[in-house]
Amino acid sequence: MKYIVTVVRLLLLALFVFLIVQGKMMLWLGLFGISLLAALIFGRIYCGYVCPMNTVMVPVDWIAKKLKIQTQKTPKWLGKGYFAWIALIVSVAAMLLSKRFLHVNIPILLIWLALAVLVTLRYSPAVFHNLICPFSAPQKLFGRIARRSRMVDETACIGCKLCEKACPSDAIAVTPEDKKAHINIALCHQCTNCRQVCPKDAICYTRSQHKEKSAV
Ligand code: SF4
Ligand code: SF4
Repeated sequence: MKYIVTVVRLLLLALFVFLIVQGKMMLWLGLFGISLLAALIFGRIYCGYVCPMNTVMVPVDWIAKKLKIQTQKTPKWLGKGYFAWIALIVSVAAMLLSKRFLHVNIPILLIWLALAVLVTLRYSPAVFHNLICPFSAPQKLFGRIARRSRMVDETACIGCKLCEKACPSDAIAVTPEDKKAHINIALCHQCTNCRQVCPKDAICYTRSQHKEKSAV
């Protein structure tokens, strides 16, 4: 499963690079728009499989951890959670205004790709995924009402927390009250990391339970 996910991500990264080189950035943004509708049914699969930032962040995160240059702290100014929406508004405004008045298409996706790399060198991937990425803001909005998502079978879960450690977006956590893992589907990228490490095979992709406790 891990290798299939990696191959899918790399193929879609190659498609992203191809479209950018061809000057077809709007096609990719169209794909992002479609992914928002898909998120209503399947959850945030764009973030887990399609997003070039996520694909690049995986090895960058590995390198940052090896070099011990990453901190688990979150910058205080990001704590309120509004930054991603502000980043989205500023990005869209910059694209429209530069096109209208300067007649240039600013490479907004490449700019955010570079920022994703820089942020991940210093902070855990969840900081970028949940608090900074402008594309995450609408994905979270649509993903929180997804019909299907990764869910935890509480009867099988032993509260070992292996899934917590494997999750790149802090979407799953064992709550102290019941010692069971719970998934926050608004943050879940449907990436399967948690499922791959679960010793009890307690995580499956199924109909969402929207009343499930928030993990984060
Ligand atoms: S890895 Fe599996 S058993 Fe362990 S806490 Fe997560 S869901 Fe429960
Ligand atoms: S909860 Fe599981 S599937 Fe969802 S983002 Fe975290 S590791 Fe990936």
